[in-house]
Amino acid sequence: MPNFRDKKHSLLQREKLHEIMEVEVVRTRITLACTECKQRNYNTTKDKKAHPDRMETKKYCRFCRTHTLHKETK
Ligand SMILES: [Zn+2]
Repeated sequence: MPNFRDKKHSLLQREKLHEIMEVEVVRTRITLACTECKQRNYNTTKDKKAHPDRMETKKYCRFCRTHTLHKETK
């Protein structure tokens, strides 16, 4: 019979480690605004380490009724 106690213990440790790792990833809340009509269409989060500058992304704007460039605003 395998050593069940040890297995359970290591699983708990792994869960704990996962929790710590999630906390360390810095997610910053940002708002994406349409550059055409200036409407704020999206609330999202970003990894500040991966995107230290303002994010720009093409997204659908329901006011322009087309895909436009959306920029991060404060
Ligand atoms: Zn728009």
